[in-house]
Amino acid sequence: MVENLVIIGSGPAGYTAAIYAGRAQLQPVVFEGFSAGGIPGGQLMSTTEVENFPGFAEGVQGPKLMQQMRQQALRSGATLITDDVIAVDFTQYPFLIASADLLEVKAQAVIICTGATAKRLHLPGEEKFWNNGISACAICDGANPLFANADIAVVGGGDSAVEEALYLTKYARKVHLLVRSDRLRASKTMQERVLNHNQIQIHWRSLPISTHGDEVLGCVRIQDTQTGMVSDLTVSGLFYAIGHTPNTGLFQEQLALDEAGYIKTEGKSTATNIPGVWAAGDVQDHIYRQAITAAGSGCMAALEAERWLSQQHSVFISAVA
Ligand code: NDP
Repeated sequence: MVENLVIIGSGPAGYTAAIYAGRAQLQPVVFEGFSAGGIPGGQLMSTTEVENFPGFAEGVQGPKLMQQMRQQALRSGATLITDDVIAVDFTQYPFLIASADLLEVKAQAVIICTGATAKRLHLPGEEKFWNNGISACAICDGANPLFANADIAVVGGGDSAVEEALYLTKYARKVHLLVRSDRLRASKTMQERVLNHNQIQIHWRSLPISTHGDEVLGCVRIQDTQTGMVSDLTVSGLFYAIGHTPNTGLFQEQLALDEAGYIKTEGKSTATNIPGVWAAGDVQDHIYRQAITAAGSGCMAALEAERWLSQQHSVFISAVA
């Protein structure tokens, strides 16, 4: 069996690619994952209220939004397989995709939408307070009433941490930036903005070691990385901004990746260095990382795949034996 198009991944990028490719009668097959990279549906499956996805004036729960995208992909003619891809071979054509359930699928084109995983610290108490004070996305969760006029903490010293700290000053009374070393890694301009902001206090050489509270987060225990001294910081929020890991382990030997491991795409397109393979969403984007930008690039990848397939092959036929 040779499929026209296989889509790997099921976040906003994967489902949007599936919707567009399905409507273009490519009969896409989507490996939506099973346990690799978290729950199928991507990072929005572990968020609560999403208030910045256009079309939902009152906001929408992340899992509900993904459920809607999934239904729309099915309705558009995509076949969804709830299984993890464990190997790909882009050196042969048609490409070969193998799944954990020992399914082997050949495909004329592949769109990779495996996303990225926000790094967590896995602190004691973290599971309990995840979405109840602890988050890894200020833009997604900053407007939560929990943080209104409260003290909150951001962990990290890179551009993400600084950007998140600045963003959170819109909601919080005070933002504590917890930096494990005595320097910020963020760009100079961004550094100046936090250093001069009267709502942001930087705690140098500070590492959170545990989280505490009743129903919701109330306090973070911090250790001085130099002296080992421990102190408690009363906060309603703790935001991790310690980087993301792109889910590109499968592609390491086969596709061009940047130094941080993200798939390189060409110019304004979603094309990878292998003709017939595209990448969309967070797996190729460490700058915007939004559901809407992921969805947009999923659309781009499907349109590019459709054009490429119609130039290369006689498509619009059912998958052939
Ligand atoms: P970075 O890798 O740049 O920074 C991660 C930060 O988290 C560092 O300060 C690091 O500390 C800290 N950190 C890592 N692990 C831990 C830990 N276990 N405990 C405590 N602190 C930890 O990641 P970013 O997500 O900030 O940025 C990734 C890339 O994306 C960068 O190239 C950045 O420039 C870019 N970016 C660009 C933006 C823009 O242009 N607007 C916005 C956001 C990101 P340490 O320094 O000690 O290692």
